[in-house]
Amino acid sequence: MTMRTFRYFVCPNQHRGEEKTSENDQHFSGKWDVDVTGMRGNGKDSLGYEMYLCILCGEPMTITTRPAP
Ligand SMILES: [Zn+2]
Repeated sequence: MTMRTFRYFVCPNQHRGEEKTSENDQHFSGKWDVDVTGMRGNGKDSLGYEMYLCILCGEPMTITTRPAP
């Protein structure tokens, strides 16, 4: 059984981004596969969370509870 987690992001210009995290079947390896669309990684913040920039305008993405329409 593979677990998937979706997180949705939006930039100040209302561009949408999405992060899909899938638990690897071999979860003893502790590896997670992360698919990112609409944005690119920008390192981690001071709490260790991933940070993303919009691929269209380069603004920082903020997490949102609403999926893209
Ligand atoms: Zn944008």
